[in-house]
Amino acid sequence: MEAQKNIILSVKGLKVHFPLTKGITKRQIGYVRAVEDVTFDVERGKTVGIVGESGCGKTTTGKAILRMVNATDGEIYLNGENLLKMTPHEHDKVKRKVQMIFQDPYGSLDPRQKASSIIREILVEDGKHHTSEELDRRTQQLLTMVGLSEEIGERYPHEMSGGQRQRVGIARALACNPDLIICDEPVSALDVSIQAQIINLLTKLQKELGLTYLFIAHDLAVVRHIADTVYVMYLGKFVEKMRSDEMFSSPLHPYTKALLSAIPVVDYHMEKMRKRIELSGEVPSPIHAPTGCPFHPRCPHATEICKEKMPEMEVAFGDHEVACHHYKELMPEQQ
Ligand code: SF4
Repeated sequence: MEAQKNIILSVKGLKVHFPLTKGITKRQIGYVRAVEDVTFDVERGKTVGIVGESGCGKTTTGKAILRMVNATDGEIYLNGENLLKMTPHEHDKVKRKVQMIFQDPYGSLDPRQKASSIIREILVEDGKHHTSEELDRRTQQLLTMVGLSEEIGERYPHEMSGGQRQRVGIARALACNPDLIICDEPVSALDVSIQAQIINLLTKLQKELGLTYLFIAHDLAVVRHIADTVYVMYLGKFVEKMRSDEMFSSPLHPYTKALLSAIPVVDYHMEKMRKRIELSGEVPSPIHAPTGCPFHPRCPHATEICKEKMPEMEVAFGDHEVACHHYKELMPEQQ
C-alpha cells in the first residue's frame, strides 16, 4: 500500500482471536474474540485515543500493532508497509519505530539498572550513537527532556517515585526517535496530581518533537485532554468515533453516554442536574458475544432489531461515526 500523506499507522479489518482449549489434549473448543474488525488511521503529529472498559480489546489492539500478539486477520501498515506481511528479519529493522509506554512503570523497568543505564541500553541497541561520549550526551538529553535531573538518572527504579519512573519510561520510548508511541494506560497507576503532570509532559513533547500517539485508556476525561480523535470500543469492536471535543458535547452511542455519565463532576449543582445512566449487567464474555448489537443486553434503548442485526459504523455528521440502529432517534434536537 502506498503511504497516504501524513498517515503513519493504518489498521484495516484487524481481528485477534485467541483459541480456547480444553483438557490435557488441548482440544480447541472455541475462540475468544478479543478484537473484531477494527479499522482506523493515525495521522503524523496527532493523537488517536481508544477508550473502553477493562477487557474491551484496546490493549490487545496495541499489542497486535507491536506484534506482541498474533493478528488473526487484517492489515497493519506503518508508513505504508504491512507489518503483518514482514518476515521476522524485516520486522526487526522497523520494530523500533513503534514504542510503547506501559501502564505499570515499575514493572516495565529493569529493577537492577539505574535510570540512565535503562535509557543508554536502548541507545546502544539502536546503534546510532557510537562513542561513549555520544551515548552519555544523548542519555542526559533524554533525561532532561522528560524533566529528570542527572541525579535521578543515577537512581534505581525502587528509589524513584511513580511519576519519575513513568518519566524514565517515556525517555526510553523516545530514545529511538519512534514514528509512533503507543501509550497503554500510561497514567492510570499514578496519583491524580501526578497524572496531570505526565499528560502535560506528553503534550509538550508532542508539540516540540511532532510525536504521534495512540493513547489507550479507560478514563474518558484523561483521553479528552490529549486526543484529537477518540474511538470508543466495546467487546472488541469500535462503536463510536468522534473528535475529542465532541465526546462531552455530542456523544451518540448509548454506551459512550453511559461511560460519560459515570465521570465524577466537581460542581454539586451540575452533579444534581446530570442524569447518571446505570448500565445493567456485566460486560458479556467475548467467548459468547451476544447476537446483533453486542451492547443490547445492557442497553436501555434496545429493541428487537438490536438483538438480531449488528449495527455497522456509519457517518452521523462530519467525521463523527457511530454503530447504533437508533442513534438518530436518540440525538438531541439541536444536532
Ligand atoms: Fe442500544 Fe440498539 Fe443502539 Fe445497540 S443498536 S446501542 S442495543 S439502541
